[in-house]
Amino acid sequence: CDFVANVSHELRTPLTVIGGYLETLLDSDSSAFDPWRQPLHRVQEQSRRMLHIVEDLLLLVRLESRKERPPFKPVNAPALLAAIVDDAIALSDEQAHPISVIADPDLWIAGSEKELHSAFANLVFNAVRYTPAGRRIEIRWFADDSGIHLMVEDEGEGIAPHHIPRLTERFYRINRDRSRDSGGTGLGLSIVKHVLNHHGGQLRISSQLGVGSLFTCDFPLDLRLERAAVSARNVTGLR
Ligand code: ADP
Repeated sequence: CDFVANVSHELRTPLTVIGGYLETLLDSDSSAFDPWRQPLHRVQEQSRRMLHIVEDLLLLVRLESRKERPPFKPVNAPALLAAIVDDAIALSDEQAHPISVIADPDLWIAGSEKELHSAFANLVFNAVRYTPAGRRIEIRWFADDSGIHLMVEDEGEGIAPHHIPRLTERFYRINRDRSRDSGGTGLGLSIVKHVLNHHGGQLRISSQLGVGSLFTCDFPLDLRLERAAVSARNVTGLR
């Protein structure tokens, strides 16, 4: 709705400015700042979180609006996933989850790069955030007769069956504190669902408590592009 969009938009600038000042303060190596460093880091963390919520809200409002969206373009999904995995490794940090990616290097997709980035990153980062240190996370990107698929599988805490149908609701969280502590906004899966709808796809979730979860994005085959075909078309476009 317009109201949420306007509020989010208005909040973004001051939050960005606050973040900028905090960064400058924290960059200073004057020892006078030492007693303040720790609390300032906390403030920075919280202001980043607010900015993250605002950005997720803006994206969600945009996804829900019926306005014309830019046409789909070829998206280099394997490269997109590689970049997301780099960020996931940074997020996992000392928890050192082994993250494996098996991606068809020639499988591109027609879509919105920004939206797909957001959807895929949400699923991969959730896997990191809800999986205990050291347990495996596996990402697969492939096509078969039924469509194009992204699978994100973890050996995490799992989800009880009664929660599963509600996970894509806005702000639905199984454990609010847990989600907050790990930097969640409660909007991630609802963004994923909207992005998939926009691409004519769907999200499937299967999980077992204490064993792990599998999130699958299915896209229709007509969005499939081959890397070779995309390059050939670019060459033709240059002539
Ligand atoms: P959040 O920002 O809280 O992670 P999401 O919409 O991304 O919001 O996810 C909603 C809820 O689904 C989370 O709070 C968490 O309880 C649950 N969840 C999401 N991904 C996983 C996962 N890989 N393993 C276990 N629980 C998950």
